Amino acid sequence: MLLEVRDLHVEFRTRDGVAKAVNGVNYSVDAGETLAVLGESGSGKSVTAQAIMGILDIPPGKITQGEILFQGEDLLKLKEDQRRKIRGAGMAMIFQDALSSLNPVLSVGEQLGEMFVVHRGMSRKDAKAKAIELMDRVRIPAAKERVGQYPHQFSGGMRQRIMIAMAMALEPSLIIADEPTTALDVTVQAQVMDLLAELQRELNMGLILITHDLGVVADVADDIAVMYAGRIVEQAPVHEIYKRPAHPYTRGLLDSIPRLDQKGQELYAIKGLPPNLMNIPPGCAFNPRCPRAQDICRTDVPPLADVTYDAAEPTATAPATAPGRKSACHFWKETLDDAS
Ligand code: ADP
Ligand code: MG
Repeated sequence: MLLEVRDLHVEFRTRDGVAKAVNGVNYSVDAGETLAVLGESGSGKSVTAQAIMGILDIPPGKITQGEILFQGEDLLKLKEDQRRKIRGAGMAMIFQDALSSLNPVLSVGEQLGEMFVVHRGMSRKDAKAKAIELMDRVRIPAAKERVGQYPHQFSGGMRQRIMIAMAMALEPSLIIADEPTTALDVTVQAQVMDLLAELQRELNMGLILITHDLGVVADVADDIAVMYAGRIVEQAPVHEIYKRPAHPYTRGLLDSIPRLDQKGQELYAIKGLPPNLMNIPPGCAFNPRCPRAQDICRTDVPPLADVTYDAAEPTATAPATAPGRKSACHFWKETLDDAS
C-alpha cells in the first residue's frame, strides 16, 4: 500500500477551546488509484491532507493519535529534514488557489526550474529546459515563449496547470489535490480535472482528490471516502455509492446534486448545519440532521463497519457482497434499501 492513514486524530487548541478537527480517520491509497475525499466545508478534509504532507499548522494544531504510513514508513516518526525530502519527491500537493501558492515575483519558469535545481542539482539552463518540457506536458500553449512570464500573466485555468506541473515535476508517487478546480469556471474545471486524471494514470501515481462536489469525482475516482465532523462516515467504490448510498449523509449529498432531468424542481438540501467541532454531539455526529435518527444514534458512536448485502437473489445491481464498502451508520441496511 502506498499510503495508509490509521486512526488519525488532530485537534486545534485555541483560546476559545479545543476544536476536534480529525477524530479517527482511516483511509488508504495505492499506486495508480484515485481516492476522492468528500464532505462539507469544515469536515476535516484539508487538515487530514496537511497532516499527511507534514504542513499542519502546529501549534495550534496537534496530532494526538494515529499513524501515517507512506510506503510502509510512519511519517509521524520522521524528523523534519526527512519529511522535507519526501515532500516534492515522494508526495506533492495541489491547492485550490494557485495565485497565492505561486510566488508572484518569480517567473513560472524559475519556479518550475527551482524544483530541479534544488532536488536534482541541475544547472539553471537544464532546469529551464525541464520547465518548458513540463509546461508542454500540462498543455500550456507556447511554453517556450511563456516560460519567462509571471503567475499573474496567466489565466486561472493555466495557473492551475502550472500548479499541477509543479506537483508533478519530480514524479512523486502520491499527489494530494485539495479542491483543485473549485476556483475555476465549470468548463475549465473539467479540462483541468481531465489533465490531472490523465497524468495520474500515465505516471501511475496515487491521487487523493479532495472536493465538496460529488459531481466532479464520478468520472475520475476509484473510491470515495465521505467525511463528517472529522470521521469517515462512508467508504465505497465510486459507482456503488451513486447507486446505493449506505449512509443518510451521503444520501443527502447525492440528493442535493442538481440533475438535468429534474430541471425546475426545488433542490434538496440537508437540513441544519455542520456541528461545532468544539462541541460535537454525542453518538453519531450527524444525528441532529439525520432523517433516520433513533435513540441509539444520540448515544452510541456507530463504528465504520463492513457493508454486506443479503439479497436473496443477488443481481448485478444488488450483489450479495460489497467488497470495500463501509458505513458508520446504525441503520446502513435500511438506508441501502431506501435507495433501491
Ligand atoms: P475542510 O473539510 O473544509 O477542508 P478543514 O480540514 O480545513 O475542513 O478544517 C476542519 C476544521 O479544523 C475547521 O473547521 C477548524 O475548526 C479547524 N481548523 C483548521 N485549521 C485550523 C487552524 N489553522 N487553526 C484553528 N483551527 C483550524
Ligand atoms: Mg479544505
